[in-house]
Amino acid sequence: MSIKENLAQIKEQLPDNVTLVAVSKTKPLQDLQQAYQEGQRIFGENKIQEMTQKWAEMPKDIEWHMIGHVQRNKVKYMAEFVSLIHGVDSLKLLREIDKQAKKHRRVISCLLQIHIAEEDTKFGLNEEELRTLVSSQEFITLENVRIKGLMGMATFTVDEVQIRREFNKLNSLYKSVQSDFGGLSILSMGMSGDYKIAIEEGSTMVRIGSSIFGTRNYQ
Ligand SMILES: *Cc1c(COP(=O)(O)O)cnc(C)c1O
Repeated sequence: MSIKENLAQIKEQLPDNVTLVAVSKTKPLQDLQQAYQEGQRIFGENKIQEMTQKWAEMPKDIEWHMIGHVQRNKVKYMAEFVSLIHGVDSLKLLREIDKQAKKHRRVISCLLQIHIAEEDTKFGLNEEELRTLVSSQEFITLENVRIKGLMGMATFTVDEVQIRREFNKLNSLYKSVQSDFGGLSILSMGMSGDYKIAIEEGSTMVRIGSSIFGTRNYQ
């Protein structure tokens, strides 16, 4: 199936309140251009350098989302244009995003990544670390970052019960911080293999790559 057909099929399945991030990491510009022609305006990348190159080449009405783990020393390269950083997992990183955003007179929207999976390889805060971060004195003083919600990745498994349980847990945490923190509107969870479950469990933003662009070829 073509990118066009894949996109159409996925969009048909998404409720109106769920935003689609087309994850274009490793894919060539032609693939992004095809998705753009179909009206896709939100793209997700996980490497800052690759995202910056694509941003330079593609039309300027695209929203670029950084979905990968962010190294602090590279924040400066995307601070001018990034729309949403999904994987924020420390106050140190937020401090750097705030500093770089200030230089461009921007307020950068961020999601806090929560660790919900079994694997240690996935990054993120646990519940206690999340609560500590959002209630810290310094966090309140950061004027050039805005926390819009939470992001999480489920365990890579065929066990749908487990995936559902992990998403459900993230949604409960989201609702809980939403009520004492306010202003949160994004719950980013769900990828090609599990986005249907994620939506049933309350996702408002799905990050889909291979189901749109085909399998990735890492070299
Ligand atoms: C690669 C990636 C995705 C998309 O994965 P697919 O399985 O190809 O849909 C989503 N989220 C994150 C954080 C990723 O790194």
